[in-house]
Amino acid sequence: MSKTALITGISGQDGAYLAKFLLNKKYKVVGTDRRSARSVNWRLRRLGIENKIIFEEMELGEIYEIQRVFKKYKFNEVYNLAAQSFVGTSFNSPINTSNITGLGCLRILETIRNQNKKIKFYQASSSEMFGDVLEKKQKETTPLNPQSPYAISKVFSHYLTKNYRKSYGLFATSGILFNHESPLRGEEFVTRKIIIGLIKIINKDTNFIELGNLYAKRDWGYAKEYVEAMWKMLQKNKPDDYVIATGKTFSIKDFINIATKYLNMDVKWVGKGLNEKLINNKTKKAIIKINPKFFRPAEVNILIGNPQKAIRELGWEPKTNINQLIKIMIDEEIKYYK
Ligand code: NDP
Ligand code: GDP
Repeated sequence: MSKTALITGISGQDGAYLAKFLLNKKYKVVGTDRRSARSVNWRLRRLGIENKIIFEEMELGEIYEIQRVFKKYKFNEVYNLAAQSFVGTSFNSPINTSNITGLGCLRILETIRNQNKKIKFYQASSSEMFGDVLEKKQKETTPLNPQSPYAISKVFSHYLTKNYRKSYGLFATSGILFNHESPLRGEEFVTRKIIIGLIKIINKDTNFIELGNLYAKRDWGYAKEYVEAMWKMLQKNKPDDYVIATGKTFSIKDFINIATKYLNMDVKWVGKGLNEKLINNKTKKAIIKINPKFFRPAEVNILIGNPQKAIRELGWEPKTNINQLIKIMIDEEIKYYK
């Protein structure tokens, strides 16, 4: 008999890729979204699966909506991907972030504990929890040191997931995923912002992009591969925590250099600090400038994961390197541009 999975946050990047992956495995996929005036299903449409998903409205702030959905279906697996997921916004909206990204997970865990303890639960934990890192390469046992309301909310959910596993014997697993990107990434995240910006500049639809800290480093992987790791975690006999990462780190500046090279742009960096700019050698005009508006009140300077446990125990490994990832993102952005 086919399994039934619930994906919260179905309209997001990971929700879309995971839905496609599970549909290919013949799962019945129930996806939840929230009341919204805008059309949020462009990702599902792009993957050609919009009509294959059963949609339910489920605002993570409302435990009654969660209970209703859990009563209506017999879920085998629940993937909690919904969150206020943007670090920048979490500084302006800390209470909402804590309510959705933090308490949202607790509402689901409580519903599982009270309604059906057999459900396998996946929590979308984040490398942001390591924050101002306390170990050179972060693994499952590295102490957490979060630096934003987003990361603190994720730490809350992460520990609750572990606690419900221990206290109530729930199959509650936490995937500590490092940054993962794709053509379906939200436009506010730095990778997609850079790629959209550069393509607009080439098309003369804008003159320049404004960014914040060019020297932060991230361990960037390909989202399509990372959702497979989520599923693999729930196929194990026992719940656990797993780091999913590439084990390599690059700065925002490195990312820009690779992207401009792939786009054949003739550019050079000039200046320092707030005056650092990327100049187009042909027009002599700046195409990337710094705007302190994009600095974070507290920054996470470097993240680099150690995925050895996942490689060993899940048989998962990262396959797409940064150059390939940037190529995938640029090629698809150009295809869908305008
Ligand atoms: P997205 O921001 O693309 O998707 C988040 C989803 O959560 C959207 O579907 C959004 O709906 C939904 N959501 C937001 N607020 C609520 C709410 N109040 N009630 C119900 N649903 C809500 O995130 P990603 O797909 O990139 O990430 C998936 C998960 O993994 C998130 O929890 C994220 O924090 C976590 N994560 C992501 C990483 C990454 O690099 N991508 C790294 C580590 C962890 P709507 O479209 O209506 O806003
Ligand atoms: P995060 O790791 O979840 O915060 O993912 P983001 O893509 O939002 O940010 C990654 C890094 O890029 C952070 O260290 C940001 O400070 C840095 N960054 C620099 N400029 C920008 C910008 O304009 N937008 C965003 N989102 N991040 C930026």
